Amino acid sequence: MPRLFFGLEIPESIKTSVLTVKTDIKGARWQSEAQLHLTLAFLGEVESEQVTLARNNARKVTHPPFELEASGLGCFGQEESPKILWAGISPEAELRELQHILAQRLITDGFTLQNPSFKPHITLSRFRAGAGSVAGLIEHYQRTRFGSWSVQGFALFESSPGQSGSVYTVLERYPLTT
Ligand code: ATP
Ligand code: MG
Repeated sequence: MPRLFFGLEIPESIKTSVLTVKTDIKGARWQSEAQLHLTLAFLGEVESEQVTLARNNARKVTHPPFELEASGLGCFGQEESPKILWAGISPEAELRELQHILAQRLITDGFTLQNPSFKPHITLSRFRAGAGSVAGLIEHYQRTRFGSWSVQGFALFESSPGQSGSVYTVLERYPLTT
């Protein structure tokens, strides 16, 4: 069964910009440019009939395009022993609205979303247990604006295991329209 999620593709210029924060931290597994994305709704492993259902729902989502900016850093877990380092997103309002519209459609159709509390972010690095602190890095980039872009659509991704972490492949794109 494919492992699926809906999310945003990140423009190349933004990927390059956010990965300039890459530095030597114990236990860090930095994401490659190809791996960077923004998750909207994680479906997990789904049956093929459900894939069709999910796609049909996504096609019916209506939302106008909007601007996003990547700015600042944060982490999941403690700064002194992080699990994930991420770049922040602002403003969050329109993205949350899009996420909500999509999530509601999926939930109505019986999907159980595993991320009920949505925190928009771009994962930059994952950490093994006993990792070094990211406190200094987060402090240093607190006010950094990595760049902005116009979100013209979202996508259905398949996540599959690869030699250097998960590989995310776009299965279908859904343009946003006014
Ligand atoms: P790996 O699991 O190999 O460390 P990964 O977490 O990126 O890598 P997936 O678990 O397939 O790969 O997740 C795909 C995307 O969905 C990622 O952006 C991940 O953060 C997000 N995701 C995975 N599980 C959940 C979850 N339970 N809730 C919210 N988002 C999730
Ligand atoms: Mg995972």
